[in-house]
Amino acid sequence: MYKIMTAGPSQVRENVRLARSVETTNPDIDIEFIEYYKSICDKLEGLMNCSGTAYILGGEGILGLEAACASLTEAGDRVLVLDNGIFGKGFADFVTLYGGSPYLYASDYREPFDIAKLKNFLEKDSDFKYATVVHCDTPSGLLNPIDEICPLLAEYGILNVVDSVAGMFGEPVDFDNSCIDILCGGSQKALSAPPGLTMVWVSDKAMKSMENRKTRIASFYANLLTFKTYYEDKWFPYTMPISDINGLGQAVDNVLEDKEILQRHAKIAIATREAVLDAGLQMYVRGGYSNTVTVIEVPEGITDVEILQFVKDKYNILISNSFDVLAGKVIRIGHMGESSNYADVKLTLEALDDAFASYGVKLKANLATSFERHYTMS
Ligand SMILES: *Cc1c(COP(=O)(O)O)cnc(C)c1O
Repeated sequence: MYKIMTAGPSQVRENVRLARSVETTNPDIDIEFIEYYKSICDKLEGLMNCSGTAYILGGEGILGLEAACASLTEAGDRVLVLDNGIFGKGFADFVTLYGGSPYLYASDYREPFDIAKLKNFLEKDSDFKYATVVHCDTPSGLLNPIDEICPLLAEYGILNVVDSVAGMFGEPVDFDNSCIDILCGGSQKALSAPPGLTMVWVSDKAMKSMENRKTRIASFYANLLTFKTYYEDKWFPYTMPISDINGLGQAVDNVLEDKEILQRHAKIAIATREAVLDAGLQMYVRGGYSNTVTVIEVPEGITDVEILQFVKDKYNILISNSFDVLAGKVIRIGHMGESSNYADVKLTLEALDDAFASYGVKLKANLATSFERHYTMS
């Protein structure tokens, strides 16, 4: 078995794996399951400080993004797509698929959005039904200040959809105080359950907007309104993947018990970044570093594929490279959820030290030793 240090999926704790193996009931008709599902949603609402409603959808993280766009978009709607990363830009496809007209607000992929500039833009054009923004754009590791962006959009009467699939549980998210309308999360990132589930949190405002549509939502599976009355009606739009949800419930309890979870992510991430700088390597982004993933430019003398292969073959560790416009340019260490622990990150950096040395790439300092020093000093 490999040690998973990728930018998601992350490691899964044994109690989550065991929870997935318990005997199952019929989730369509057993009231106990509906109560259990609701209890997890209640906890998710508490964790994100959400006075709206959380739902768990049976489908991979992408389903949440698509469901948000499917449920809000009507033909001809103008949608502001905040694009400073690969996932950021990707929202335009969902908007288009459901008949909307995306406006790409593009900005440097190495920097978080500048709030003053965005405000300037909105002064001139704010005629958008909603906007999409990514919290942590995982392919680059860029973190956007959703706590500033979403309230600004709200000032201009624009609803927002936030993809925090790779941010939440490793970075703070405050749904109510950040004026978020639809928040998307996935099971397989910092929550550390296996892939397969999407969580969405929906504000009352966003729910009203869906209810007030003139046209029907052009999807069944990605229609968030179909979940609205599941609890009153004791009915789900499709059979819930009960074993996945049992695992998710345990992962949520693990997070609730882990009072230091955000501090731990920060401490590990900061020490990792310091080690990268000491070694004379470059992070891809210049500010706006996510505490869930560190994205390092591939230095001269080695390729991303060679690095991944080396740490996999010799150390049994899986890390990520990237794709799209970042293909070949960077490697990524995921320190999210269960993978955000001192021993595993240190071992990953040792493996990288070895990979670089083997290919004759000279570092200014040893990554693992620097990491250890910065970690213990902090
Ligand atoms: C992982 C991730 C998703 C979910 O999509 P995948 O199918 O796992 O690629 C969505 N958004 C972001 C920012 C992610 O990191």
